[in-house]
Amino acid sequence: MSVILLVEDNEMNRDMLSRRLQRKGFEVLMAEDGAQGLAMAQSSGPDLILMDMSLPVLDGWEATRRLKADPVLAGVPVIALTAHAMEGDREQALAAGCDDYDSKPIELPRLLEKMERLLQARSASRSV
Ligand code: MN
Repeated sequence: MSVILLVEDNEMNRDMLSRRLQRKGFEVLMAEDGAQGLAMAQSSGPDLILMDMSLPVLDGWEATRRLKADPVLAGVPVIALTAHAMEGDREQALAAGCDDYDSKPIELPRLLEKMERLLQARSASRSV
């Protein structure tokens, strides 16, 4: 079972997405801000991180930069989530080191496809 770390400050979004992912068979860990997300990633080593970009304490861009600068965590795929599909959001997320990008409102099938692709690539690179 893959462990997903969901970093999202909006409680309603967090509850809804975590429940939907749990129903799909994922184990879901949750953090409410970027600093907590970073600490939780370090302590629990998730298989994939869903990172809201607009977060208190430490925003998603900075949290991702720090994750990707950590040799132990650099290989953990990060999917950026942003509230508005703004021009340049995707480029900014990728520049911060995110592996993919999705916009809210979440369309679960579309997000799951991105998650599965990254999880498969991750397990393939690990088994070499
Ligand atoms: Mn937010």
